[in-house]
Parts: sequence; C-alpha cells; structure tokens
Amino acid sequence: ARHFLARMRQHEALGAFLSVDEEATLAQARAADALLARGQAPALAGVPIAHKDIFVTRDWPTTAASKMLEGYRSPFDATVVSRLKDAGAVCLGKLNCDEFAMGSANRNSAYQPALNPWNTQRVPGGSSGGSAAAVAAGLAPAATGTDTGGSIRQPASFCGITGIKPTYGRASRYGMIAFASSLDQAGPMARTAEDCALLLTHMCGPDVEHDSTSLDMPAEDFTQSLGAPLKGLRIGIPKEFFGDGLADGVRQALNAALKEFERQGAALVPVSLPRTELAIPVYYIIAPAEASSNLSRYDGVKFGHRAKDYADLEDMYKRTRAEGFGPEVKRRIMIGAYVLSHGYYDAYYLQAQKVRRMIADDFQQAFRDCDLIAGPVAPTTAWALGAHQDPLADYLADIYTLPASLAGLPAMSVPAGFGAHGLPVGLQLIGNYLQEARLLNVAHRFQ
Ligand code: GLN
Repeated sequence: ARHFLARMRQHEALGAFLSVDEEATLAQARAADALLARGQAPALAGVPIAHKDIFVTRDWPTTAASKMLEGYRSPFDATVVSRLKDAGAVCLGKLNCDEFAMGSANRNSAYQPALNPWNTQRVPGGSSGGSAAAVAAGLAPAATGTDTGGSIRQPASFCGITGIKPTYGRASRYGMIAFASSLDQAGPMARTAEDCALLLTHMCGPDVEHDSTSLDMPAEDFTQSLGAPLKGLRIGIPKEFFGDGLADGVRQALNAALKEFERQGAALVPVSLPRTELAIPVYYIIAPAEASSNLSRYDGVKFGHRAKDYADLEDMYKRTRAEGFGPEVKRRIMIGAYVLSHGYYDAYYLQAQKVRRMIADDFQQAFRDCDLIAGPVAPTTAWALGAHQDPLADYLADIYTLPASLAGLPAMSVPAGFGAHGLPVGLQLIGNYLQEARLLNVAHRFQ
C-alpha cells in the first residue's frame, strides 16, 4: 500500500484519483497484515485496489465526479466494495471518471481530466478513465470500473490494460451510483485476464435483497478454467465490426491477434450482427431516458449540493440542478425527458426498446455458429485531448461496445498490440450469457 501511495503522489498530474486518504488506506492494510499474521488470510488479503468514484464508500467521499455530490459521504459501502473488502483487499482511494459515468474520454469530470499515461496529450478513454490510467501507470495493481455502454472496455483498450464487464446481473448494483439501471454493470480492470478473473470472482455473487436485478445464482470461481487449450474453439468475426469506420492500425493489430488464436487451434467463423449501427441511436435513447429518471433524486433536498439563494421550492430545485450538473449530464437529462414525454414515447423510447430486443436476438443467432465473438473495442486508438469537440463524435465512437451492453452480454477488452502513434489497441471478446470464464480463459491464453 505504501508503495502505491507513493506512486500516486509522484504521478498526481495524471489526474487519476479524486480522493486519497492515506490513513484510511493504511488502516485497512494493517488489518490485512493482522489477518495474515494469524494465518487467516482471505483470498485477496493485502491486495491494494482502487475504486471508481461511482461506488459509494464509507471511508472515502463519493462524488461520481460531479459537483452535485462534492464532499458527499455515504453511510454504507457498495456491495462490490464490501465484497472486495471482505476478501481482504485494501482500498487505495477513489478514481476519477466522467460525471455520473457519462462520457468516453474522462473529459466530463467536474474536477479534472484524467490523462493517458502512454501519452499525456491523449485521453485515457472513459468513463472509467481514472481506473485505466491508474492501472496502466502502476498507481494501483487493479481497479474497479463500471460499464453502461463501454466504460470498462474502451478505457482498458486506450490504456493497454485488461477489463471485463460481466453478464448483466452478475455484480450487484447496490451502492453503484445509477446512470442507466438496465445497462449498468461493475467489473475489474487490471493488467491481465488472470488478475481480472480473481477480482471478478470476489466482486460477483447474488445480492437479491439489495438489487432486484441481481442474478440469484451461486458465485462462480472464474479462475477455474484458466489455461484450457483453445483447440476447436469457434471465434465469430462479425463483418459489421470490420467495416469502413475502423482505423487501419487497429485493424492490423486485431488481424495479428486473430492469427495467434488460429495458431492455437481456434477457427475463425464469419458471423453477422446486422443491427450494429442501430445500437448507437438505441443506446442514446434508452440510457438518457433512464438517466433522466435516476438523476431526479438530486433535487437539493436529500443529499448533495443545494443552491444558496432561492425564492421558493421550485426555484431551489432549478438553481441546485443548474449549478450542480455539468453540460453533458444536462444534455442527457433533457434528451431523456424528451424521449419519455407524451407524444414522443411511442416514437422514440418504445421503438428503441423493440430494436434493443432485436439486437439481443441477433447475438443469439450469431452464437449458433460460434462460441464467442471477437472484434475491435473502439474504431481508433486514444484520441488527442482537444479532439471530439462535438459530443456526437464521442457517441459514434461507442459503436462496437454498445451492442453487447444492450444485450446484457459479458464482454472484455484484451491488449492486442499497438496502432497509430504507438498507442495501445484492445481486442474485444464478447461471450454468451454467463460465459465470463470462457472469455477470461481465451484472453489468458492470448496473454
Ligand atoms: N460512452 C458511453 C456514454 O457516454 C458509455 C458510458 C458508460 O459505459 N458508462 O454513455
């Protein structure tokens, strides 16, 4: 813990952390030492890990990178946080991200942008940009992230680390600040698939009392099948994932990775996900719709920011929300309120729900011919800090991560070499429901 705390201080300029409390970290480390001394060490005893500032924590403030929650302290730990703590992990602090996890570059943090450690003129990706930057720079051996539409996979890809979003419902959403509840999932970000398997094992498991969408099935040990040979594995290659929008450098790195799988005895099978492009409008209707509802709780009454001067209750709500939310969050709330409103609900929200179902069905069709799907995580490597001035540019770059999110499938990013400007490229592996162990094994064999 001391080693990582020192590195965190040394590399503060990366903007990876939003809150650090060395005494709180060292107290957890001493508790882990005591367990180790008594020979009762749980699986992760003494393993330092940092949490995305979307997970509520008792011992560190939780802001979701928003002014709305500046200085907020939760009275409880999120289930993912308490599970890791029970397994002996030591918390290093809270990690930067996009405000309420809305973004693809960590530029929407209300506090500071996080930078890409490979090139500090580049974005680390988002929304779990602080998590990816911290792991890539060696400020933490592992971190938690959340993925609503790609927020674990895309920053992992941009920073050259490994990250997995499990099947929707595997990890409890209790204490994870809600963005789009039908999509939000927690997952680990670390150097290797092996580390991710170990962490995911301790993050997941039933929590039906606290999260009604938590899968009511026993926790699984995702490290069990690591090492199984790939011979006979059928890897589906969706042609829609390798179209015109893909940068050459990314395509070349992925092709080399796919060759390695073939060399190990896997077969590449062409498949089709015909509604890939529709995932963008569908996601950018459903996610803002759910966000507009979830974020209505920030009204200045119950917790977080409250405007200082106001005339009456209505004015207090308005000023509080005008002051507390950043521009991207406001944009999403307005889009969400619009698509849910009378007269537009059928035209937008209901249509999006129908296409969402079709996207999920397309995956089931593809999985008849293959065991898992491989493709890019993002169309390019990490973009420059000043690029993507138009928010639509960010939305379009989510094209390869959104389909698996809408379908609720497990998906991960595995480092697969380098593309333009010597920046890391991630290979995305998408599995059928509950196939995390297989994904992690395939990634492990590749690493
Ligand atoms: N980039 C997507 C968005 O801005 C995904 C974010 C996420 O997964 N939290 O909504």
